[in-house]
Amino acid sequence: MNCRICNAQSKKIFSGLILDKYNIDYFLCSNCGFLQTEEPYWLKEAYSESINISDTGILSRNLNLSKKVTTILSLFFDKHGKFLDYAGGYGIFVRLMRDIGFDFYWYDKYTENLVARGFEYKDDTKYEVLTSFESFEHFENPIDEIENMLKISKNILFTTELLPSPVPIPSNWWYYGLDHGQHISFYSDRTLKYIARKYGLYYYNFGILHLMLSKPVPKYIKYILKLSRFGLFNILKKGLKSKTWDDYLKVSKKI
Ligand SMILES: [Zn+2]
Repeated sequence: MNCRICNAQSKKIFSGLILDKYNIDYFLCSNCGFLQTEEPYWLKEAYSESINISDTGILSRNLNLSKKVTTILSLFFDKHGKFLDYAGGYGIFVRLMRDIGFDFYWYDKYTENLVARGFEYKDDTKYEVLTSFESFEHFENPIDEIENMLKISKNILFTTELLPSPVPIPSNWWYYGLDHGQHISFYSDRTLKYIARKYGLYYYNFGILHLMLSKPVPKYIKYILKLSRFGLFNILKKGLKSKTWDDYLKVSKKI
């Protein structure tokens, strides 16, 4: 089958048992290093709940990311601009970022907005930066999604686990998500560099956090991100005004 990123021929490398009942094949592209499953006919079943039951890291991940993203947006972007969380799930990240003081909005095709209602995406708005966490590995057509994102903003911050090298077999890597069957696209470092090059973007990698940006950021960003864990976040937060109360007034007036 063809690679969903670069369209070259992908070769079957192994198979794995998902949802405890479907034996599915995985295909690796030697051109861009992207690993994909066969046509994912099981997704309807896998998404009987859009946030999978085994995602126990949902809150700690959002809290941790809110600190890192606060640091990046405060130092390298217009912090008073508008931001969009694409595939924003229940709205946890949007609510957290609005509480910190960023004008963040929510967009998700599949999940109900539970905690960021009233702050949905509008297509006539310019967004400074788009974030998208733990979504890339769910994409059936990654290039369509990425192009859709780039129409909204040329700066994307996202998370996905990098595919290790050599590629682990299904029983040796938890991120294949065999229990829930929702992970179907896996990106190596080479894949993400390929995508960035294709769209003329600067690419940076910090563990599971990836930045694809229209402009370069200074190299010291990696030290800054480490500092965000040690108090820098609290300093930067002081330069922002939380929207918790203003949002309450705005939303309750609507009701
Ligand atoms: Zn490829």
